[in-house]
Amino acid sequence: MRGYALADSELVSFDRQFRARCRVQRPDRYRLLDALPADEPRIARGGGVSYVGASFGNAAISQELGAFDRLLAFDAERGLLTVEAGARVGDLQRFALAHGWYLPVTPGHPKASVGGCIAADVHGKNPARDGTFRGWVEAIELQSPARPHAIASERQNAELFAATFAGFGLTGTLTRVTLRLARPPSALVLRRVPVRDLAEAAKVLRDAANAPVLYGWHDGRPGHFGRGVIRIGLVDDAAASAAPASKPLTAARDLPAALQPLPVALWNRAGIAAANTWLGARWCRPGQSPMALGEALFPLNGARTYFAGYGRAGLAEAQWLLPHVRFDAFAEALRELVERDRPRIALIASKLFAGVADGLRFDGNGISLAIQVPAPAQSGQRAFLEALAELALAHGGRPNLIKESTLDGSVARRAFAGFAEARARLAAHNPGGLHTSELARRIGL
Ligand SMILES: Cc1cc2nc3c(=O)[nH]c(=O)nc-3n(C[C@H](O)[C@H](O)[C@H](O)COP(=O)(O)OP(=O)(O)OC[C@H]3O[C@@H](n4cnc5c(N)ncnc54)[C@H](O)[C@@H]3O)c2cc1C
Repeated sequence: MRGYALADSELVSFDRQFRARCRVQRPDRYRLLDALPADEPRIARGGGVSYVGASFGNAAISQELGAFDRLLAFDAERGLLTVEAGARVGDLQRFALAHGWYLPVTPGHPKASVGGCIAADVHGKNPARDGTFRGWVEAIELQSPARPHAIASERQNAELFAATFAGFGLTGTLTRVTLRLARPPSALVLRRVPVRDLAEAAKVLRDAANAPVLYGWHDGRPGHFGRGVIRIGLVDDAAASAAPASKPLTAARDLPAALQPLPVALWNRAGIAAANTWLGARWCRPGQSPMALGEALFPLNGARTYFAGYGRAGLAEAQWLLPHVRFDAFAEALRELVERDRPRIALIASKLFAGVADGLRFDGNGISLAIQVPAPAQSGQRAFLEALAELALAHGGRPNLIKESTLDGSVARRAFAGFAEARARLAAHNPGGLHTSELARRIGL
């Protein structure tokens, strides 16, 4: 009797570019996390909503942390919340908001787990103001066959603590996490600033660096490239009493990770044109309106059909962070590339960053563009993604490894100045490469 059960499941990345038949362990007590044979390759899996295959792979058992989703302790005076690593960010925000706190950095998908947010060191609605997830974590507990139980923080096991952020699950399985919460803005007003192109967008983003919510939406079509709107969520204390009450967030278990892909993809040229025209008319008007914080945190709740519209061929999201000094030149070269090659781009999102680029983290000082393209396996689309990567590399760009499944190790080695050191650091915490995934294999971690 080995004491643990394995299910045979087909797992698919959110972008639908990688699928594998995997053995999945769904432990529901701590001792079962240790029950796998010590030499069995494994990888932790949280919500499983990464665009790429980061929490599974052909060679590893996925250890799904879904049963470890409890909120364990809450210090309401200091805003310290201890949770199990499988807790979903949607549930965490739901609890925190109800108690007068919130976590300033959460990704757009409410089913992402706290463990997944640490392993990818995710960013939220304004990374220039709030940084990445790392800034809101007080302490972590993790385990691995090489190191049964470890506690790490800025003061204790600081090297392990640092390596775990953007460590993609390779430093071990996170079990518990203590988070530092902040007081939420009393009321938000959403200001819309239309922009003609990406250079103008960059200026508007820089001028609004302190807003709690700050991101741009842009048209990616030839002839319209970069046109869009910057959405700025500002604190509006005066309007607090008249602010729309945030509807209580839905429990994460009641939300689907993704809708079934539509049998016919919507995002062909005609569909993209119709959607961009509609969004342009709806969003790209100057003005402002009250905004509920809960809805601002999880825009995905209104965008599930949009993702289903990619159909079975799925999408790729290429997200690159460009330094300020190179951004305008990059944006212009990208516009020329799009005019010339005419790829299908469903949308572009822009964000401002003001952090430090170290290790494999998606952070730095500059502006990021997330570019979503349908059917990335089609040759024209694939060629565009490759050309985009070359262009971004030529302008000092940094890719987001948790987002783009078409990147390979050679691009990563050129993009991250500290790639070899980061890889060695992960290997030191992962003897024998026991923690492994499709992402780790593809990038060569
Ligand atoms: C619609 C959508 C919107 C998004 N918005 C944003 C955004 O705004 N900002 C952003 O930065 N990202 C964003 N993301 C990406 C997402 O936040 C990350 O991929 C995140 O890692 C997903 O968490 P998860 O729990 O689903 O992780 P999984 O997909 O399960 O795993 C991701 C990685 O985390 C590791 N991991 C998971 N749990 C643990 C654990 N307990 N211990 C150790 N390692 C673990 C896995 O091994 C893997 O390497 C978005 C994704 C989607 C689909």
